[in-house]
Amino acid sequence: MDLRLSEKHSALQADLQAFITRYAAEAPKAGGGRKRPDARTLDWQKRLVEHGYAARTVPRAYGGFGAELDVVELAVIADAFVQAGVHPGLSNQGISMLVPTLLEVGTEAQRQEWIGPTIRGDVIWCQGYSEPGAGSDLAAAQTRAELKDGHFIVNGQKIWTSSAHYADMMFLLCRTEPDRPKHQGLSYLILSMKTPGIEVRPLRTMTGRAEFNETFFTDVKVPAENIVMGRGQGWHVANITLKHERLMLGDSNRLTQRLHKLTEMLQRLEVGGEKLIAIPSLRDRLLQLQGEVFAWRAHGLRLLTDQSRGVDSGLRRLITKYGATMLCFRLSSLAVDALGTAGLPYEVESETVEGDEATTWHVDHFYDIGLIIGGGSSNIQKNIIGERGLDLPREPKMIGVAAGRN
Ligand SMILES: Cc1cc2nc3c(=O)[nH]c(=O)nc-3n(C[C@H](O)[C@H](O)[C@H](O)COP(=O)(O)OP(=O)(O)OC[C@H]3O[C@@H](n4cnc5c(N)ncnc54)[C@H](O)[C@@H]3O)c2cc1C
Repeated sequence: MDLRLSEKHSALQADLQAFITRYAAEAPKAGGGRKRPDARTLDWQKRLVEHGYAARTVPRAYGGFGAELDVVELAVIADAFVQAGVHPGLSNQGISMLVPTLLEVGTEAQRQEWIGPTIRGDVIWCQGYSEPGAGSDLAAAQTRAELKDGHFIVNGQKIWTSSAHYADMMFLLCRTEPDRPKHQGLSYLILSMKTPGIEVRPLRTMTGRAEFNETFFTDVKVPAENIVMGRGQGWHVANITLKHERLMLGDSNRLTQRLHKLTEMLQRLEVGGEKLIAIPSLRDRLLQLQGEVFAWRAHGLRLLTDQSRGVDSGLRRLITKYGATMLCFRLSSLAVDALGTAGLPYEVESETVEGDEATTWHVDHFYDIGLIIGGGSSNIQKNIIGERGLDLPREPKMIGVAAGRN
């Protein structure tokens, strides 16, 4: 294997270095992402899209950079931002989940209207999937949408809706064909969060912040053309979005960035005159994690290679969400353990407040536990890996209890 960069990729690397040297001072702080992007982040995102360092392969017709998919290019770009510790651009439910879904199955009108403003960060989306009785068993969703006079009329309730309190738009999984078997009775709608009849009630998580919400719908009118694919095809569309959600949550660049931050902290902080990195138990854990993050990075490149060759990654893709969210959790666990009592003063009133180092690690740590559940819990991921990836027998079903979020 020749790991040297080609001339073309070396030139890209040089361009990136020049870009970062010139503009890094204008970048927002790396990390965060659980709040509405501020003006600085939006300006940065637009600059990245303009230079092809974000939305690189999104066609120009939809506001992207329009480059052919080249796995090495994507790796070179991600690496440059991670190594420099510079914000790599937005990754959220709109950019990383809805945009690829619309590129795959949206209508031309939907792509034209929504992709451009979403990749620039101007339009923020939330995901209306889970309900009080339909989380792991997502196909049991009961929120109803009835077609009347050119509009779907939506009634029901969603729960755990991240970002709904500041999102502009939602992609919603709802039941339009109640007489069909449950997987065939669902549709996927896109709607404005400003539509009358939507009520968002924040839920506080153990981070101390209200990051997700209950969302209630009372006679909410959604234009009929806002359906993605057709009536009864919502399960198929929802799974395309879930595939991209799991890839987003399994992003190896996020892990590498976190490893760098952790290593830097252990090298800098001292206890009793001794650097944290010099404490054998901490150093051993760091080295173990470092090896796993490197392996995960190689795994990420392998997935991209599959994508560029049009190969279905199969089991390789199925392990991504489970493996990466568990690893992310272990990285922040080490940070919290290393901070010890220094990490105890934890005060977070609002998600818009930037915390000190200890608070930031704690918030990330608590949130990591959430990500082990969100997007399909680890138990469900293991079921999927076993049943779809390893061809193990399906889990026994109790009568009246349904399948997993898969
Ligand atoms: C931080 C966070 C953000 C989220 N954001 C969103 C969002 O933006 N939009 C949205 O729609 N949803 C969101 N969710 C919801 C998330 O997708 C669900 O919480 C998740 O799918 C689990 O569903 P549930 O909470 O109903 O738990 P349940 O389905 O009730 O599961 C409870 C427990 O039982 C286990 N379990 C259930 N069925 C099985 C099975 N068949 N085999 C083995 N174990 C099983 C689960 O693993 C879990 O441990 C978010 C959740 C979190 C934590």
